Amino acid sequence: MNHALLLLTCLLAAPALAKVQVVATITDLGSLAAEAGGDLVEVTTLARSTQDPHFVDARHSLVLGLSKADLLVHVGMEMETGWLPTLLTSSRNGRIQVGAPGNLNCATLIQPLEVPAEKIERAMGDIHPGGNPHYTKDPRNAVPLVRGMAARLAAVDPDHAATYQQNAARFEARLREKLSGWEAALRPFRGTTVITFHRSWSYLSAWAGFEQVAFMEPKPGLPPSAQHVAQVLITARARKVPLVLQEDWYSAQASELVAQKSGARLVRVPGMVPEGQGYLDYVDRLVAAVTAALPAAAPPAAAR
Ligand SMILES: [Zn+2]
Repeated sequence: MNHALLLLTCLLAAPALAKVQVVATITDLGSLAAEAGGDLVEVTTLARSTQDPHFVDARHSLVLGLSKADLLVHVGMEMETGWLPTLLTSSRNGRIQVGAPGNLNCATLIQPLEVPAEKIERAMGDIHPGGNPHYTKDPRNAVPLVRGMAARLAAVDPDHAATYQQNAARFEARLREKLSGWEAALRPFRGTTVITFHRSWSYLSAWAGFEQVAFMEPKPGLPPSAQHVAQVLITARARKVPLVLQEDWYSAQASELVAQKSGARLVRVPGMVPEGQGYLDYVDRLVAAVTAALPAAAPPAAAR
């Protein structure tokens, strides 16, 4: 084949291969978008899985990805408020601006927890006024999330609407099968008291039936002070807390101290679905890490 012919062949083949460009702010959402989109989409993620998604550098390379995006899926609830608006403006991509079909605020798809009743003040720390944005940690939320993404993909790529719907249904079936296994594994530990670093495990706790009794952060976004750590230790001992749970990206120093002095186990897990892995595998890993750390015979909640 001569060069001109090869070029022509490539050009003719290109439209069929063009994938819908999806940009997700975090890998949790990116992995779910990949489920909804299947082979029809190419998913890229702005925050790396090892990176605290509250704080992401608005690097120029991220703008480039956004400028080509057909669909942006983001957490909402002010999670990305410190960095996403700037990137969006710089992308000059009308398809993904707020209000456009290519902009999906995923918080609109779930039931939020911890919506503050009182007026937010700066002194309260980095509180999210729309509620707790860490909703991807309850796998039951993956159902409306993938369905919503499939619907939005259908809006930006109507020719493949049926495929997106099928992808979502297939994912939902796989998830439901997994859910029963995870819930059976967690059932003996309902009522367990837990301490977490940031308020990022509230949805997981609600799902697993854990009681969150303290947080290593004195206020959301603030590192633990000596005084606060001492207070957390008192709570850990008084409530016989067996588990301190936190994302890899937070320092383990203060949590290790609390765990050592109270007899709790410190469990550090990837904060987001690792790149190239699936959401279901990630939840598998979370459930395994948490249940492995808990004492086999947790006393029933009523006994305490
Ligand atoms: Zn947060």
